[in-house]
Amino acid sequence: MIRVRFAPSPTGNLHIGGARTALFNWLYAKAKGGQFILRIEDTDRQRSKDDYLKEILDSMRWLGFHWDEIYYQSQRSGIYKKFAEKLIDEGKAYYQKPEYGNQKPEYGNQKPGYRDQRPQGELDNLQEAIVFKVQPCAVKINDLIHGEIEFDAQLIKDQVLIKSDGTPTYNFACVVDDASMEITHVVRGDDHISNTPKQALLYQALGFDMPNFAHLPLILDKSGGRLSKRTQATAISEYRQLGFLPQALVNYLLLLGWSPGENREIIDLEEAMKHFDIKDANKTAAVFDLDKLNWVSNHYIKISPAEEITNLLTPMILEKFPQAKEYCSDRQWLENLIRLYQGRINTLRDFLEWADFFFLNEITVAEELKDKFLNQDLSREFRMFIERLQGLKLFNPPSIEEAFRNLVKDLNISSRKLIHPIRVALTAKTVGPGLFEVISFLGRERAKRRLDNWINKEGKDEL
Ligand code: GLU
Repeated sequence: MIRVRFAPSPTGNLHIGGARTALFNWLYAKAKGGQFILRIEDTDRQRSKDDYLKEILDSMRWLGFHWDEIYYQSQRSGIYKKFAEKLIDEGKAYYQKPEYGNQKPEYGNQKPGYRDQRPQGELDNLQEAIVFKVQPCAVKINDLIHGEIEFDAQLIKDQVLIKSDGTPTYNFACVVDDASMEITHVVRGDDHISNTPKQALLYQALGFDMPNFAHLPLILDKSGGRLSKRTQATAISEYRQLGFLPQALVNYLLLLGWSPGENREIIDLEEAMKHFDIKDANKTAAVFDLDKLNWVSNHYIKISPAEEITNLLTPMILEKFPQAKEYCSDRQWLENLIRLYQGRINTLRDFLEWADFFFLNEITVAEELKDKFLNQDLSREFRMFIERLQGLKLFNPPSIEEAFRNLVKDLNISSRKLIHPIRVALTAKTVGPGLFEVISFLGRERAKRRLDNWINKEGKDEL
């Protein structure tokens, strides 16, 4: 059975690159009827933080990457110690006092601080590191994505396995865990490729079978640099905050290294589960393109049931516009309004920005919009439009449109002369859904109030 793992360190948030690695592992397990293991690599006690762990687990759940088993390296120190001592006993590792650091003692040469025998009984709170003796040899790895890679172990120094504070190093814990957790495929980012020969030597020394390796090419930003939080959001939780749907992010992450063929970009996950294979992952670096993510996200919002989007948006609306409780309590109104915007917005946050005027009691029209669209006296036209709206039996988009068309006809003016000023006066925006739909959703009273305000105050803010 295929067993893969994702092994984040809780020393930072789950970022785009990590999430893509998690996805490729998870999907591979799903595609092959295998198991997906989550391993928290929290041996760095100083840098590991509970908040990061929580953020990683929340993001994994939000993305839908459910794990079959979870392990914490911090709870496994006895296992690492046992294997390190085995290497000592076999003459493949030695003790070294920390002050001798990275010096490479020649084998058999008893330098100070160097010891290759296990002490009798328990070590007094082990002040010595355990170091692996690297034997010069060539190491070959058959990478499922990159093919055969050869390394020269002459260049590899002796490796610390257990630090003098008793914690294992990444490479050692990783090998012990991958072997004892029966991981069949190690799928991780290219940034770990330099660790792989060191790990291969440890597999040999410990007598473990090597797993298959697959190193995923990096994700770069548009300028060819590494993704950096200085230039864009990198954490999954930030994208969640920005109002992307998890389906969109998963789809987009999958595009960063795999293609379902025929240039398709919207990927049905169930379908992908049937075809996905790690060996088909791209060999070259992927480029993170926010425009593409927005496009994918727009698609998922558009095809989601309005009810679902409304459930997601309601708490966000109430948080941003506490005064909007009354509007939100009219669920049908809200759901229909959201339906009106669903095809336009890229993220849930876009709705909060673009449809804010439905939830605000007062709107503020920017000076430049006033200058451009409300610089003429339109009080007579606005007044007449209000009157006609008041007289409508049915307050719906077709009847509002009819009233408007009749008005411009009676006044013998072009509809353009009125349509933009009315939109700006009602919404403080120049674009949005059809004006008559907007008016119908605003309701007769609010539309009247906002237009009245312009008549009375000649362009000053509402009330
Ligand atoms: N803890 C390592 C990391 O977060 C895991 C690397 C691996 O998958 O082996 O990069």
